[in-house]
Amino acid sequence: MAKKSPLAERLDQVHQRIADACAKARRQPSEVMLVAVTKYAAPEQIRELVQLGVTDLGENKVQQLAQRAPQINEFFARRQAVDENQIGRLRWHMVGHLQRNKVKQILPLVSLIHSVDSLRLAEELNIQAGKLGRRVPVLLQINASEEASKSGVAVGASTHLAEQIASMENLAMSGVMTMGPLEASPAQIQAIFARVREIFEEMRWQKIGGNDLRYLSMGMSDDFELAIAEGANVIRIGSALFGPKPPDAEEVR
Ligand SMILES: *Cc1c(COP(=O)(O)O)cnc(C)c1O
Repeated sequence: MAKKSPLAERLDQVHQRIADACAKARRQPSEVMLVAVTKYAAPEQIRELVQLGVTDLGENKVQQLAQRAPQINEFFARRQAVDENQIGRLRWHMVGHLQRNKVKQILPLVSLIHSVDSLRLAEELNIQAGKLGRRVPVLLQINASEEASKSGVAVGASTHLAEQIASMENLAMSGVMTMGPLEASPAQIQAIFARVREIFEEMRWQKIGGNDLRYLSMGMSDDFELAIAEGANVIRIGSALFGPKPPDAEEVR
């Protein structure tokens, strides 16, 4: 058998880590959606990853998503026209902070927006989704670690904002997203994830979003096992797949 590429090996490692974390938590790996965050990946790496079977791709900047999604989508659409090997539809996820004036640009390209963090942003999404005749799935981003540098709604305001989003005609209130704290022990990180899981369960209990409410998006390269232990069913992985952030890259976390 041909030697695996470094990217294929890293993908295997991530799948193995997911499987181990799920086994520990008595969960099924098929419950966990892997979103490959491509912000520091080269286009060739993204294409290779899709060929390896990853169909969910995430970006945290509008500009980069708007540039890449059409290119990568077109590449695979062309390949599929000549290749029986069905890759299936690619789904792009917006995982980073979204400004209202960028909503129009991004909306036609994305399948799930992880980062709704204000009523005004939700309102703009609702208006623009209506113009496209779409009902757009969104997650509420919660700033559970209450770090000032992070976006996301405060824990205390999250349920109310989720209710407001759920009442919007063109948005599907589909779950919650959070980012673990940067400088913290595993126990502290897990406590933050547990808190967000409780908020998610509370929303479910209150039937906010009804059947739309299904995604608990938490966990990145360094902490996704802790997130899976706390019930995450969407994890967002960048560096564990593509290698560490290039030294000259702008900090886009
Ligand atoms: C970059 C990024 C990730 C992935 O981070 P890694 O630590 O590289 O896995 C996940 N979520 C968001 C919102 C990001 O910006």
